[in-house]
Amino acid sequence: MSWQQRISEALSERRASASFRTRQASTLGNGRIFTANDREYLNFSSNDYLGLSHHPQIVDAWQKGAAQFGVGSGGSGHVTGYSRAHQAFEEQLAEWLGFERALLFISGYSANQAAISALAQKTDTIIADKLCHASMMEAAMQSPAQLRRFHHNDVHALATQLGKTNEGERLTLTEGIFSMDGDSAPLADIAQATRQAGGWLMVDDAHGVGVVGHEGRGSCHQQNIRPDILVVTFGKAFGGSGAAVLCNEETAHYLLQFARHLIYSTAMPPAQAVSLQTALKVVQQGDVLRERLTENIQRFRRGATQLSLKLADSNSAIQPLIVGENQRTLDLASQLRERGFWLTAIRPPTVPPGSARLRITLTAAHTSDDIDALLEALYDAAG
Ligand SMILES: *Cc1c(COP(=O)(O)O)cnc(C)c1O
Repeated sequence: MSWQQRISEALSERRASASFRTRQASTLGNGRIFTANDREYLNFSSNDYLGLSHHPQIVDAWQKGAAQFGVGSGGSGHVTGYSRAHQAFEEQLAEWLGFERALLFISGYSANQAAISALAQKTDTIIADKLCHASMMEAAMQSPAQLRRFHHNDVHALATQLGKTNEGERLTLTEGIFSMDGDSAPLADIAQATRQAGGWLMVDDAHGVGVVGHEGRGSCHQQNIRPDILVVTFGKAFGGSGAAVLCNEETAHYLLQFARHLIYSTAMPPAQAVSLQTALKVVQQGDVLRERLTENIQRFRRGATQLSLKLADSNSAIQPLIVGENQRTLDLASQLRERGFWLTAIRPPTVPPGSARLRITLTAAHTSDDIDALLEALYDAAG
């Protein structure tokens, strides 16, 4: 089979199972409104939970940062790409989240890959929640360590896996708030089980940081634990992009030696680090935004229950409407699109087979009228 034949076959398979993915280029968007095909849609697919992607102070900080530092970092942080802006933001993050050190990465994907691949060695065991994000799963699978998965949020299953004898170290992987289901991990119990087995806990809080906990410090603060490795990302509640690994001093030194994603990749633009410092301030002072988001979540869930819509058990901004079949989910998404709502169908392999869903994300930028209009359209389309 030639390369071209292999590519054609893989695409045919995707098309036949209604799992072919396409992208839609937007012409303009402000978080709440998504504009494409010469039409405006109410956006219920964005992870911009606090509506910060267009926040005037944060945009202004980016512009000022670009004027001062230019638009690119010019290299890896190990060469000349690490600026005072990066350093200042890392120090602010470490203090805010209660860790000795924070290291910036270009994305959450690379932060997870880097931390796991730098840590895991041949005799080690990685024990991961089945629903962990692809970036963690992929790194764990590619690492020389043995990978075991435990049933989603099942601490008993985790403890059983942790109890099995092995010669190396154990690393537990989980998330604060799960990206496709919107539910939270029982972090205190997970931390305790991991500690009892002498392992380390790594938590990816991409969807929790900025949104939950005092001043938005995230799921770990909310549940009063401190993992050994915490990954936070800035593409969601912070409204920008990038990520950080929080850890102790020695681990930071270790990652600076062995995390290839840090060493062989251009550092984030310093202007971005400047804007993220402002985003952090807005997040810290963002109680009003978090309250508005909570009100929207409660309004949506109340309304959906009254309409007997089948929602997952989630109290977060992620409210999945489980549909099941791929084609039916796509049809539902396109019906809603006709009515002016931008929602994405999430299909396998992103979620388990047979659990295709509309992943509805609510933000602080939505109004109560937006929520009511969505409920009405969902009722008409799903009913
Ligand atoms: C979005 C996400 C990532 C990836 O972060 P990026 O900064 O977008 O690369 C990692 N983990 C989880 C749980 C996510 O939801």
